[in-house]
Amino acid sequence: MTRFTSYLAYLASANNLGDDIQWLFYPGMLAESTSKWWADFGDRHASHEGIDLCFYRKRGGTIRHLETGAAVPAWSNGTVLHICKDFLGHTLVVEPDKKIAGPTRILEVFSHLDPHKSMAPGTRVKAGQNIARTSDIQPKSRTQARRPVLLPHLHLSCIEVPADTPVTSLNWSLFCLRKKVNVLNPVFM
Ligand SMILES: [Zn+2]
Repeated sequence: MTRFTSYLAYLASANNLGDDIQWLFYPGMLAESTSKWWADFGDRHASHEGIDLCFYRKRGGTIRHLETGAAVPAWSNGTVLHICKDFLGHTLVVEPDKKIAGPTRILEVFSHLDPHKSMAPGTRVKAGQNIARTSDIQPKSRTQARRPVLLPHLHLSCIEVPADTPVTSLNWSLFCLRKKVNVLNPVFM
């Protein structure tokens, strides 16, 4: 797997942000946080299974955030295993080529996205290649208006699952079951 700092550089490059970028985080954006970083900043219903990437600034500059449609690059060379819906868009599940030996596999999970049309199970991806765009998560209708207003962002997870898990089961129904999967902190990859 590629290091997390390299991924931040890919994300900045994919969006032409320049190479002197600081990424900024509310505590609720970090792995295992139990608080929200939107609406009332209250409690999450479960601790955060990854990290949310949204705010950045050029050193000393104004704080900005990723817009809807921001480019999302792949993290490592790998293969798309599954694409499923999440509560703010779609999730892409990628298995990096550098697999670990043993009875589990570690997956890179990208959420709240509109995947590129060329993405499908079995698609090969290269580190830094654009694979998706951040989805439009602003309320569009009266039924959606109750949703908390949340800025577009990339949710990134590293999930370790039993190696024999069927690819069609690689979704958030499984990823939130801490008894069945290990949720790893992307920052330390
Ligand atoms: Zn998140």
